[in-house]
This record gives sequence, structure tokens and C-alpha cells, in this order.
Amino acid sequence: MHVPLIVTDFLDRAVTLYGEKTAVIDDQKTVTYSELNERVNQLSYGLRDLGVEKGDKVAYLAPNTLEMLEGFYGIFQLGAVMVALNTRLQPHDYTFILNHSESKVLFVDQELFPLVEPILDDLTTVEKIIVHNCSNLSEQITNYDQWLSQYSKDEFQRALLDEEDVACLLYTSGTTGNPKGVMLTHRNNYLHAMSAMHHIRVYDEDTLLHILPMFHVNGWGSPFYYTANGATQVMLRKVQPEVIFEKIQKYGVTVAHMAPTVLNALLEYHNQNGSKIEQNMRVVIAGSAPPPAFVARVEEDLGWEFVQVYGMTETSPLFTTSRIRSEQKTLEKETQYRLKAKAGYAMIGAKVKVINDDGKEVAKNGKQVGEIVTRSNGVMKGYWKNEVATMETIRNGWLHTGDMATVDENGYIDIVDRKKDVIISGGENISSIEVEGVLYEHPAVLEAAVVAVPHEKWGEVPHAVIVIREGQTLTEEEIIAFSREKLAHFKVPKSITFTDELPKTASGKIQKVHIRKQFWKSDRLVN
Ligand code: ATP
Ligand code: MG
Repeated sequence: MHVPLIVTDFLDRAVTLYGEKTAVIDDQKTVTYSELNERVNQLSYGLRDLGVEKGDKVAYLAPNTLEMLEGFYGIFQLGAVMVALNTRLQPHDYTFILNHSESKVLFVDQELFPLVEPILDDLTTVEKIIVHNCSNLSEQITNYDQWLSQYSKDEFQRALLDEEDVACLLYTSGTTGNPKGVMLTHRNNYLHAMSAMHHIRVYDEDTLLHILPMFHVNGWGSPFYYTANGATQVMLRKVQPEVIFEKIQKYGVTVAHMAPTVLNALLEYHNQNGSKIEQNMRVVIAGSAPPPAFVARVEEDLGWEFVQVYGMTETSPLFTTSRIRSEQKTLEKETQYRLKAKAGYAMIGAKVKVINDDGKEVAKNGKQVGEIVTRSNGVMKGYWKNEVATMETIRNGWLHTGDMATVDENGYIDIVDRKKDVIISGGENISSIEVEGVLYEHPAVLEAAVVAVPHEKWGEVPHAVIVIREGQTLTEEEIIAFSREKLAHFKVPKSITFTDELPKTASGKIQKVHIRKQFWKSDRLVN
């Protein structure tokens, strides 16, 4: 018999095996897996009472909370679709996404309610708004806790689903126009989780700190595979180093996922307060290419194993990992760090190739650059109501990532840059990531972003925007001279600006598109 792959099975397993174990620790509430399951049932009954049916869209605007986590399962039991909203958008973006997705119900955390308050009259499909963690008892607002408490905790008769049905609709950050809604199916979520739990090695004795926002590709699927293994999940509302270390210590956190920018802030904090911090963290999972020196600092200063993963919303998201293989554990530390600074090799369930413009695979010599394409169980069903974009992205069964990379003799993929971020100077391609790697080697550099700026003679040249580490000084001449010693002449930034802060997405990625915009009067060909 064909059993559809639906992640609600993961919750069942946790309830059977770990019913009395702590499932979630949130600021106000701590629940066991049995209690989580009861809340999930209440939510499903409540949604059904609101008229939500299979295929209907239910939107969430929330930081990492118990309510957000239970939302996934409560929605899936009905066969409805989770629309997880980025918490850092402008009110008009929410109007677009809520209307475009045809969301019927909106759950919003009280802290974020002001983001949607100005647009309530513009929403064409939302019939009901329910507020989480609501202390304000105004009559117009439905208080989630009160609403939920009316419903039964008994087992919910789940909708009959096909694993190819859409489970989540996740909008990209919309760099080049209106954001696109990525449709991920139950099968995508399930098989991605099976692969990720193997590669990340999740155990029941683990305690995860949810640093990566769950709206961001379902927190890389973490609500699914940590639940499946009965791990304890600690919620985090604000990404602040002191709060993160406090939770790590207090709850014995063993694993966390985050962007390197967040990890960088933790390294800084640890350098200043390290002796006071006792912790049990075993591993940190990070996306986005870090330089080897950074990997070394994480492992040596913090004592956390560094695992790099690579992926995108369109692939559920992870499909490569840099975790080094057992036969490579005997290599020198430095070589290990160099390998971990690469995106690595395909995870189970994914095929990955790096191809040139003719569609042929590049030579495995670590030199030829091509685009990463993938076929995997995680590849999305398509973009919601955007067939043209779907056809442009998935061609001949391969998803085209827009990320440029090389492949070495061992098959390790090394991301050179995003197509959009490559700087094309006098016909030469310059990887912004390579230049940033050198800038980060300077002790006064806290953060750096390198972007293409227009140049009369060369077309484009690299420009660096730098945040200086507190208490240090650095001049434009000094950092240019430093880069000259380490980079080919044409790769050296021609100009520098210093700033207090770089623009970042809610998951902590540096938004180079916003930095670039200031320098380009007319449109750059690739934005
Ligand atoms: P949008 O598609 O809306 O512009 P986005 O591409 O940043 O936003 P995501 O899907 O969250 O949104 O990010 C995927 C991208 O992040 C990848 O295509 C890649 O460019 C980058 N990325 C992810 N992991 C890594 C990694 N390990 N190394 C380098 N880059 C990475
Ligand atoms: Mg993208």
C-alpha cells in the first residue's frame, strides 16, 4: 500500500516515544510532546470551525514561538497550506503576499501586529485575524489562547492527502520584483527532513535553539526533523548574542542553525565574555560561504563543530553539506577547515551538477566556473501563479540555482558567487566572496560586503563596504594596501566606504542588492 509522506507522522512518533519529554521551551510556556500534540489538535479543530478546508491558505506572521511551531502541524492535519511570512517586510509587502496567496486566516504575534494594522482594509481574502501572545483584550481582536481553549484536545481526523499536495507557500525576498511564492509539497518537506536529520545527525538527547527564523524555509525544515527525533526545541524571539548565550547555558542547548553573520556576532561576544560562558553546544549548522579562518575560529574559540550547508527556498532548502567524511578526519586541521569552507557534496536524495553555458559539466579541477543545478526530492512544485518563472528556473528537470561554483577533484562544490554578485571588470569575473574573505582576514574588519560599482574604463570595479570592529581604526588606504598583498590587482577594491551597519535579511544575510543600488543610476544588467 502506498503511504503518503506527510510530516504529521513525525509528531505521532514523538508523542508515542517521547510523550512526557519537554518538546518546546518558550519564554512563557513549556510543553511536552503530548501537550504539543493536544494544542495542535485544538488548532486543527479551531481552523475547521473557521471554515478552513483542504488546500486553503493560512498565514503566519510570528517570530520563533511555540504558536508558530504548532501552526505547521495544526494546518497540515487539515491539509491546508502554511504561508509563513517574513517578519521584516513593509506593510505593502504583506498586502501583496496575503492577497496573492489568497490567505483565508492570518495568525499574527502581538509584537508584529503593528505591521499589518495599517493594511487590514486592503486585504481581500483574509476572513479572520487571530493574535498570539495577546495581552490586549480589545474586542476587535481575537486572542489566540482564549480562542484555542474552546476546542477539543482529542485526536483529530486528518484530511486524506496526496504527498504531492502543497504544504507550504514561502515567498522569496523579491529582489527583482514582487516576491515569488515557492510551493513546497508534503513530499518535499518529508524527504528533505529525512536527509537533513541524517546529515545533521539529530538525536533525542539534542536540544535545538531555534535561531534561524521558522518563516525562512520553515527554519530549514527544523520543526520537522527535530520533532521526529523527540529533541527539545528552545524558542528565541530576538537574535541577540547575550540572549543566545543565556539560553545555551540555561537549557543545555547542543545544536543551532544560523547565518554566518549571526555566528560572527556570537564570536565577538564570546571573545569579550568567553571565560564566563559554560556551554554544551556540539555543533553549529551554517549556510553561506565563510572563509576557512572563520571556520577555525568557530571550532577553536567556541569549541563548536562547524557544518556548512547550502540550499535555497526552492529546494526545501538544503542539498549539499560540507561535513567532512570519515576518511578525511585524519587530515590536518587546516585542510579540514578549507574543506568545511566549501559548500561540499550532495546530500542524500539530491543530484548536483555544475554546468557551463552549453549545459556540459565543468572539469573537476577546482578552476572552471559554472552554474549549480540540482534534481532532488526537495525541489519545489513551482512558483505559485507564476508558470513563466517556474519554467525559467526548472529546465529539463533540473533546477537552476543562479549560483556559480567550481568542483574539485573530490567532487566538492565551492560556491564562487551568486550570478548577480559576480563583478565583471574588464572582461574578468571577480568573486565578491573571495574579496570579502580577504577583507575578513584584517583584524579591524567586523563585517564586509563587496559589490560591483560602475566604472568608465572597466565597466565594473569592486567596491567594499566595511564595518570596523569596536575600538579599532582603519583607513581606506590601509585596507586597500592589505588587499593588494593578497589579491590579484584587478580584484582589489578600488574604493571603500565605512558604515555602522550592513543591510541584512531577517535571517541575517547581507543584502548586496541594497548596497549596489546606491551606486547605479540606471539599472545594472543583472541587479
Ligand atoms: P531571493 O531568491 O528572493 O533573491 P535568496 O536567494 O537570498 O532570496 P534564499 O532562498 O533564502 O533566498 O537563499 C538561497 C541563496 O543563498 C542561494 O541561492 C545562495 O546564493 C545563498 N546560499 C545559501 N547557502 C549558501 C552557502 N552555503 N554558501 C554560499 N551561498 C549560499
Ligand atoms: Mg534566490
